[in-house]
Amino acid sequence: MSTEYNPFVTAQAQFDKVAEMLSLDDGMKTFLRNTLREHHFLVPVHMDNGKVEIFKGFRVLHNDARGPGKGGIRFHPQETIDTVRALAMWMTWKCSVVDIPLGGAKGGVICDPHNLSQREQELLCRGWVRQLSKNVGPLEDVPAPDVMTNAQHMLWMLDEYETIHGAKYPGFITGKPVGMGGSLGRTEATGYGLVFTLREALREKGIRPEDTIASVQGFGNVARYAIELYQQIGGKIISVCCWNQKDKISYTFKKKEGINLSDLLSITDNFGSIDKDKAKGMGYEVLPGTAWIEQDVDILIPAALENQVTGENIKKMSQRVKLIAEGANGPTTLEADETIRSRGIFLIPDFLANAGGVTCSYFEQVQCNMNYFWEKEETLSKLDTKMTSAFIAVSELAKKKNIYMRDAAYVIAIDRVAKATRNRGWV
Ligand code: NAD
Repeated sequence: MSTEYNPFVTAQAQFDKVAEMLSLDDGMKTFLRNTLREHHFLVPVHMDNGKVEIFKGFRVLHNDARGPGKGGIRFHPQETIDTVRALAMWMTWKCSVVDIPLGGAKGGVICDPHNLSQREQELLCRGWVRQLSKNVGPLEDVPAPDVMTNAQHMLWMLDEYETIHGAKYPGFITGKPVGMGGSLGRTEATGYGLVFTLREALREKGIRPEDTIASVQGFGNVARYAIELYQQIGGKIISVCCWNQKDKISYTFKKKEGINLSDLLSITDNFGSIDKDKAKGMGYEVLPGTAWIEQDVDILIPAALENQVTGENIKKMSQRVKLIAEGANGPTTLEADETIRSRGIFLIPDFLANAGGVTCSYFEQVQCNMNYFWEKEETLSKLDTKMTSAFIAVSELAKKKNIYMRDAAYVIAIDRVAKATRNRGWV
């Protein structure tokens, strides 16, 4: 953990501010600003080279007053317990703001899957479940994919869980492959969900998507589907930024006339890294990683990792930017958030903008329970309805109370969770 930035401190500070606005009492404040349960454990893996490597794993449940915990599992070399805590807390608010009956949780393993074979990744997934098989489950806490984990990882985890418990439990995990209990539309859900809210924000401001230009940080699951739908509704993306594993830095790939998604995807690896030399060959300018935020655009979409829009780099943001849609969890530091607020930029906060993924995971659970699976169009149309109504509720409250969009989203989300916690008689 860097000494300057701790996402859990950010998450708690955001909570504290809104807790004051809601006049929550001290007991409720203490209960909701901390995590309810945490598991820290070791996962030994017999590596391909014959040695045993020990990985550190976590699962954190922030709150389950509104339903079982829900949240992804990250494989990341810089994973920390405080990142997982923050992400678990944000999951609680995310499920609440879109009004689905789930709580907030998150998990992770400190590892770099770039350096692990498929076999080693499978053993890591199975080992993670073995450590937690009594503490997670369809009625307790339901994992899902997140950064550097995917449907294959979920299926290995499901298989291990079902082997341990001796029965089929498709509701144990979401983000499963389609045909193995997964939902059509889940892959697109987070990126598309972000664009559903972006479309509504532009409609509210009377701006046509065709008249807007955007820059994106990230080129993984969230970013690429956000780009796809934003381009379909008429928007233009001029730059994307992603990590380069070989050079161990990030680059921004720019094309003034607009990026071509399928061309870029054809030169992108499984971890969302674009090949720099091939991109140059396709006519892209290759700029430093920080350039994505400095572009002359109307819309910024940070969709890579937390702590990316900072007090420092936001000084270089173009005056033209009028809207920021946060695809990543916690991409904005408290200092940068103050700048966004004071400049009157319209913000679609992370736990609203990227709630499409968990909403579709909820749909996946519903479909597994019915053992009946919807067509993709039906799933995406239900997702559109949920995201649009959540966006409208937040934006109406922001207008009515004349408050910042992030605060309005927090007011709705925290109020619902506090009521459930109080009505259960917990606090
Ligand atoms: P991903 O692993 O598919 O892609 C991550 C992308 O970010 C890759 O293109 C990678 O190159 C890039 N990246 C990583 N480090 C970077 C850096 N330092 N600078 C620039 N680019 C960098 O991940 P994802 O699933 O798209 O998730 C992205 C973010 O969205 C995360 O914060 C995640 O928690 C959040 N999120 C994801 C989902 C989901 O359904 N996938 C749902 C909600 C929130």
